[in-house]
Amino acid sequence: MSEFHALRRDGTPWQPMFIEAINAETCIGCGRCFKVCTHGVLEMMGMTEDDELVAADDDEVERMVMTIAEKGRCVGCEACVQVCGSKSIALIAAADVLAA
Ligand code: SF4
Ligand code: SF4
Repeated sequence: MSEFHALRRDGTPWQPMFIEAINAETCIGCGRCFKVCTHGVLEMMGMTEDDELVAADDDEVERMVMTIAEKGRCVGCEACVQVCGSKSIALIAAADVLAA
């Protein structure tokens, strides 16, 4: 891991953790992560009975799942993980992303 870190307003170091993946098998489509993410990263989609992702308003939707629409817009705040009761969101250290 590199030595990358961000700074809080008081100057102390802070390690951003970017969103990396959402487990579509455990996500219950509750939308809580979407509500707390203010950076336009996430998008609710539909899942068919054949496990195909489709638009949320598609006639074939069997259940809803959260997806990552704009991974590059993530600021690494971790708010989505904090509200996910099913622990479906995986993070990666910003240092590891920027070092890759
Ligand atoms: S870590 Fe923050 S910015 Fe990134 S997806 Fe989660 S809530 Fe949005
Ligand atoms: S908070 Fe968790 S369970 Fe709810 S939609 Fe987001 S990833 Fe899925």
